[in-house]
Amino acid sequence: SNLRILLIAGGPPGEHEVSLSSARGVLAAMPHPTELAVIAKDGLWLLGEDAREALVAGVAEHGTHRFPPDIPWQHYDVAFPLLHGPVGEDGVIQGFLELLGLPYVGAGVTSSALCMDKDLCKRVLHQAGIPVVPWVTFYKGEPTPEPPFKPPYFVKPANTGSSVGISKVRADQDAHKALAQAFAWDHKVLVEQGIEGVRELEVALLGNIHARSSVVGEITYQAEFYDYETKYTPGRAQLHLPASISPEIAERIQATAIEAYRILGVRGMARVDFFLSGQGELYLNEFNTIPGFTPTSMYPKLWQASGLAYPELLDQLVQLALRA
Ligand code: ATP
Ligand code: MG
Ligand code: MG
Ligand code: MG
Repeated sequence: SNLRILLIAGGPPGEHEVSLSSARGVLAAMPHPTELAVIAKDGLWLLGEDAREALVAGVAEHGTHRFPPDIPWQHYDVAFPLLHGPVGEDGVIQGFLELLGLPYVGAGVTSSALCMDKDLCKRVLHQAGIPVVPWVTFYKGEPTPEPPFKPPYFVKPANTGSSVGISKVRADQDAHKALAQAFAWDHKVLVEQGIEGVRELEVALLGNIHARSSVVGEITYQAEFYDYETKYTPGRAQLHLPASISPEIAERIQATAIEAYRILGVRGMARVDFFLSGQGELYLNEFNTIPGFTPTSMYPKLWQASGLAYPELLDQLVQLALRA
């Protein structure tokens, strides 16, 4: 093809290594000529051969180019910000690409910011009648009274991914350590009701506003919850594609995800995470507008299980960017 792609990976600490791991997979499978730029943990950029070396190393602590980096932007047809978490998944880099007039893969500024902020996202979904897990929100420095629901709780930063900064607080534990851990990553923190006997079901969506859905997948694991180590250590989690659930629940998950995608104004893609409680209640947990593309990641596997191979998936994302 004659489409030239600029892949941007790395980003701040938190999901930096996850992003570089995602980028290795995407670079190997992208059916268009692709160049790489890496944002180091210090916020400076690496270009050309330095970026490739960072990818091999799996981490870039320090960059060399101050923002905005000296990249011939007009040379590219589509940018692919394959960055997870703040700066890359929350609308910040999307705004810069808008200013450049460079089409990019994935959701726009507002939608990215909304999906990244778990508190605001849940408020919008709740207003639309989509079931979400009960929660309360605290900003740094505010009093943190007992929430109006029973433990266990999940304490999470409003704007992270990969379970970074998330802890489970059981009835016999106090929440101070969990709150401190979450506030280390964000000025806003959610305390959520822990769903007991939870089944974790995920679905992959593709499209601009009007999405189509993959089959539903399920994740099982031996850990206390689906934490960072369980997500990225091969063999720790089992992915079931498709999930062993009734066709009714599968269809409800797909329809709810597609409806929420439209409400949140998502373009490109999203991986939508659901919880099914031991009592059979279904909740939409969260939206990921730049899901992982690592070897253990669910998004490309869900599409593969739905008949869409990895290189074709990447091509469709590029085509959706050009039509956004
Ligand atoms: P991702 O890597 O999918 O972006 P994330 O960091 O955005 O994850 P969540 O998906 O909200 O975080 O939560 C991470 C994990 O923590 C869940 O997959 C689940 O195992 C557990 N968890 C979070 N909230 C709850 C809850 N309310 N009840 C039960 N388990 C929960
Ligand atoms: Mg997430
Ligand atoms: Mg995420
Ligand atoms: Mg999740």
